Amino acid sequence: MPRKKKNIPTKSYQFKLPRDERLQWFQALTTKAAQQLLDKLWSEEWINQLGKSNLKAYKVINEAQVELELNRQKIYLPSRIRRGTAEWAGRIIRGQYKRKNCYYDCLEIMIRFGFETKDSTLLTAIMKQYRKEGKNGKSFPLHKKVLIDQTIKMIKNLHEALDISITFFKYTDFVKPKIQHFAFPYSPDDNQAIRYFADGEKIQYELKLPTTPEPKSTNDWEWVTNEIAIPEKIQEKVAGAISSQPLKPTLHKKKLKGGLECFFLLFPWEFKNQPKRNDSKERVLAIDKGLKKVATMAIFEDGKQISKPITIKLVGSQYRHIERIYDHIAGNQHQIASQKKRRESKQIGVEAYQEERRRLYEKRNRLGEELAHTTTNILIQIALDWNCTKIVIEDLRDYKPPRGRRSWSRRLSQWLRGRIAFLLEYKCKEQGLTLQKVCPWNTSSHCPRCTAKGVKVLGPNNLIENKRARWFHCPQCGFTADRDYIAAINIYRASFIDYKEIKSLKDTSPVPYMDSGILHLTVPGGGSEMNCDNLLVAVTGNG
Ligand SMILES: [Zn+2]
Repeated sequence: MPRKKKNIPTKSYQFKLPRDERLQWFQALTTKAAQQLLDKLWSEEWINQLGKSNLKAYKVINEAQVELELNRQKIYLPSRIRRGTAEWAGRIIRGQYKRKNCYYDCLEIMIRFGFETKDSTLLTAIMKQYRKEGKNGKSFPLHKKVLIDQTIKMIKNLHEALDISITFFKYTDFVKPKIQHFAFPYSPDDNQAIRYFADGEKIQYELKLPTTPEPKSTNDWEWVTNEIAIPEKIQEKVAGAISSQPLKPTLHKKKLKGGLECFFLLFPWEFKNQPKRNDSKERVLAIDKGLKKVATMAIFEDGKQISKPITIKLVGSQYRHIERIYDHIAGNQHQIASQKKRRESKQIGVEAYQEERRRLYEKRNRLGEELAHTTTNILIQIALDWNCTKIVIEDLRDYKPPRGRRSWSRRLSQWLRGRIAFLLEYKCKEQGLTLQKVCPWNTSSHCPRCTAKGVKVLGPNNLIENKRARWFHCPQCGFTADRDYIAAINIYRASFIDYKEIKSLKDTSPVPYMDSGILHLTVPGGGSEMNCDNLLVAVTGNG
């Protein structure tokens, strides 16, 4: 039973808190308590209870369940802190409800069909089953299809790895959630763990924090008072909120440049619903995401393409910079491995290497983060410049065969695409743009101009087929272009797919190109247009 979603949109802003070791203690205590609760409740019974309930997670669990012992001593956590902890762990468990159900639905079909059956055959069978059970004739949600696909792959892997039948196990035997990021929700609190007041320019707040790493009683907790200034840029945005008072925040921890760890309060403000513009002539920006070509896109309206392709590319030096970091990481990994093989007494400097690795990953993350921010800002700007009302991207939860030849570029590109999708989501909300995510399957294999299946060829002037080639050629109509560009057009086509009636891109209308009011079936093909005036470069601060 889905829980009712609140319809008031919110925008959240984070504020850095001054350094305070009491925050560290608070983090350590609540994280441990949440993980212990998670371990204790990790069962299908609790997944079901939480999944079927409309109540807030902490109400289903009851904070009395939250207990914590350190060094065989009972730790005292105030009841509202326990509530927040229960809410935190409960949300994680609840998040597994759909996945668990999908696991058993897939398993049932896979046992019936045999585990060797092709993924696509299984997927069709399971979707058919879901449609038959038909939930009020609603269209088939895409995320479900993606989830099924992932689940089939997971079961196949498990089936292969296990010596005894997979049916001897439960879903909860295979999946064990672990808390990796600190994010303490204050939402269940009633002014006994946090109090705050925002006046538009600053937020005054009080937090209840422990005065020792191992609080034993209520006396080991105290109110800590502080004030955060709201930066002018955020002041302007928050001024448009329904109320100047934000909703209850979440406490986070983040690592800054140089490795410094800081705590943040993330406050959501409520805003009025923006009226959705919904006409079929909607102007749309469709984007394909990659790595070297961070984004390839075009503008569409009323089923027609109205712009030439636009690309955001990494310049060579930026790409090489990232490449070098990964080379360092690989070399460093190698050193750690070879040091570890030595006898304990002869291990030299493993810690130094590990420290170096940590630093390299941080550098990678910072670089990627900047790149994702710059890219999304450009994307939003293009959408606004063209008066688009919607942005269409591929759904990320979906598996997409890697394009990079080297494993580091594959991993980075996956990560980067994830960050871009995440940032786009909230930047679109800020600008009142709709963001639609579509299924990216086959988006670079069918011709967007005539719907025929195309081939991968070496280049526009070299139509030799090659499986790894980046160029697309349509034997039927002759359209030829870079595959990322093909993907962008097909992502637009995929935005019309109603998965209940249409099973693949083949059954959707082709997209002609329109230039100064004249329709062209096959231009632009990419080629020269892709490399000159439509090229944008995302600039990262090469830190
Ligand atoms: Zn064609």
